[in-house]
Amino acid sequence: MLLVAEPVLGAEERDAVVEVLQGGWLTQGARVRAFELAFAERHGARDAVALANCTAALHLMLKALGIGPGDEVLVPSLTFAATVNSILYAGAEPVLVDVESLDSPLISIDDAASKVTARTRAVMLMHFAGHMAAPSPWQDFARRFNVMLLEDSAHAIGVAGVGSYGEAAAFSFYGNKNMTTAEGGMILMRDPELLARARQMRSHGMTHSVQQRLVARSPHYDVDMLGFNYRMDEIRAAIGLVQLSRLDQMAGRRAALVALYKERLQALASRHDGLIVPRPKSRISADHIMPIVLPARLDRDRVIAHLHAGGVQTTIHYPPVHTLSYYRARDGAVRLPVTEEFHRRELTLPLHPKMEDADVLRVVDLLESAFEESHALT
Ligand SMILES: *Cc1c(COP(=O)(O)O)cnc(C)c1O
Repeated sequence: MLLVAEPVLGAEERDAVVEVLQGGWLTQGARVRAFELAFAERHGARDAVALANCTAALHLMLKALGIGPGDEVLVPSLTFAATVNSILYAGAEPVLVDVESLDSPLISIDDAASKVTARTRAVMLMHFAGHMAAPSPWQDFARRFNVMLLEDSAHAIGVAGVGSYGEAAAFSFYGNKNMTTAEGGMILMRDPELLARARQMRSHGMTHSVQQRLVARSPHYDVDMLGFNYRMDEIRAAIGLVQLSRLDQMAGRRAALVALYKERLQALASRHDGLIVPRPKSRISADHIMPIVLPARLDRDRVIAHLHAGGVQTTIHYPPVHTLSYYRARDGAVRLPVTEEFHRRELTLPLHPKMEDADVLRVVDLLESAFEESHALT
């Protein structure tokens, strides 16, 4: 089966993990610190805070920025539930926003502007599929409405400029992301004092970490804020350091596969009306996933079954958050027509650095035969 996503793991990751196990110090230590500094440098930042996962990163960045009860945060509904949940964890109110178009499924600046109220404190961008949201219109938006600009950058690791739009950005190293530590996350923040706050909140709000107490030979610590246990560990950081060192190579392979997909899919689109290959304006992408929008008349379930029978897994990104039961029960009145249309027709094709060119050709051939099969039926 050709999978939608697969991590690239080799002898280097194995050796790095074995080294941690032999060293005997498993929990947050020198490797976590080295991973933070290497990740920050890769994104043109001075420092970063590593965490257990991206959901924790999103939560802590909101807490560190003081976003909480009574505040509203604008956020796309076309995202993973975690983006919206983090806002709820902070006690703030997520205000779900539509996407621009089927061609550019990123949060719509016009719809966001129409939903600003006196309570709006921030807008959370999400770089869907790795496509970078254009920075300058959003920076103008943030100034115009006096709101903070935040990024869920789970799809956009390694893209120049990501993490420096506004106040803070959160990244994910989950197994299907562009680099992985199995579970893991990272925060970048503009204000070093707020980043230090997030760092302290990561470990129960304690004023000194276990390692600091070991080095200082003092058992004393204080807790002067409500913290969490959102720490990363040395095993994950060791994997992360290796993955980071081969991020450019993996990104290059992703870009080449996407270029080939686009060439073949454009040819297919010229023969089949209504097939859309999203191309947001910024043209800068981490090539995280390969979403397409199927012709409206096609039965997507049949296309999925046809590809599956041909040994190709596909998925759907995403069931919009406002259509999921929990959020519908909170507010059933949300209607986001472009997001809903995108979701009805979206299909995510396999994309990962282990794929061969021949895999792309096979996927597009299967799509074409699925289209022809459905023509024969109608
Ligand atoms: C994967 C993902 C997350 C959650 O990341 P975890 O590390 O699993 O917590 C959040 N937002 C988006 C857009 C994601 O793709």
